[in-house]
Amino acid sequence: MMREVEPIRYNYKNETAWYENTDKVMDWFRDQDLDFVSMYFGEPDGTGHRYGPDSPERREMVKQVDRTVGYIRNSTENHGLTKQLNIIITADHGMTSIYRSAQLEEITLSKIPGFNFQDVSFHLLDYGPSGMLLPKPGKLETVYNALKGAHPHLHVYKKEEMPEHLHFSNNDRIPPIILWTDPGYVLNGYFPVQFNKGEHGFDNKEMDMKPFFRAVGPAFHKNLEVGPFETVNIYPLMCHILGIQPELNDGHLSATQHMLVTSADGEFSCLCFIIQLYRLLFTSGGLQYSNYTVLVTFLMGFKLV
Ligand SMILES: [Zn+2]
Repeated sequence: MMREVEPIRYNYKNETAWYENTDKVMDWFRDQDLDFVSMYFGEPDGTGHRYGPDSPERREMVKQVDRTVGYIRNSTENHGLTKQLNIIITADHGMTSIYRSAQLEEITLSKIPGFNFQDVSFHLLDYGPSGMLLPKPGKLETVYNALKGAHPHLHVYKKEEMPEHLHFSNNDRIPPIILWTDPGYVLNGYFPVQFNKGEHGFDNKEMDMKPFFRAVGPAFHKNLEVGPFETVNIYPLMCHILGIQPELNDGHLSATQHMLVTSADGEFSCLCFIIQLYRLLFTSGGLQYSNYTVLVTFLMGFKLV
C-alpha cells in the first residue's frame, strides 16, 4: 500500500505538482503492482468558491484541469498502462453562484423574530447553504416554529420529516433540526461571516449540484453516453472492476453495469484509477476535453457544448 497526504498549507493550484503527482501514481502502478489508486485535485473547487462558477478565473482553472486530464492520458500511455488501467474521473458535487447585492434579503438567524440562540445548545451554521441545530431540552417546537416560514428561501425541517431524496434522517449524529437555503442564498448565524461567490450543498435536485462522470479503459464501452445515476453507485462499480466483494452500501451495480464490456471469460481488468476533480462545472459549456473527446465513454447530467 502507498499513501501520500498533502501538508496543511498546500497549494492546490500548482499545475506542475499535479503533473508530478500523476507521474508518481503511474510509477506506482507500473512498479509496485497496485490495483487501485485514488487521487484528489482541490480545483476548480477553490477558485469556484472564491470567484464564482461563472467567473473568468474559474474558466481558466477548468482549462488547467483539462490540460491535466490530457496529461494523465499521455502519462498512462507513456507508462504502457493503457490496456490495463481503467480511469474514472468524477466530482463529489457541483457549484452555483451566490447572489450578492445590497437589496438582497439575507438569511440571518439572529434577525428572525422568535428565534433565540439561547434556545439552542449546539449549532452548525455559516458553512454556506445548510445548517443544523440542536435545541435545548423542551425547546424543539419553539425553535422550529420560529424558523419555519421565516424566510421565503429558507427550508426548515425536523430530522424525521426530511424529504426522502436527501437521505438525511436515519443517523443518530444528525441533529433534530435541519436547515437549507434555495440556490443563490447562504445561511448566516449571528451575522454574515463568509462571502464566497460560489457554493455547494444545495438540494441535490438542482442541476448546478450535479457532478459529472466519465470513464475510460478496458472495462468500459467506448463512446457510450448514458443517463444520470447517483454517485453512490460508483462504489459497487469499482468493486466489480477490481473483483472484490463490496461492503454493505447504498449503491447497486445494476445502475452502471451497462457501461461495462464483458470479456470472454467474464473477468474485468483489475486496475482502477480515480481522479476526483472537485466541482468541475460544465454550466457554461466551456470545457472541451480537447485531447480526448473520442475516448470519453460517458457522462452524467451535463450537456457538453
Ligand atoms: Zn467547497
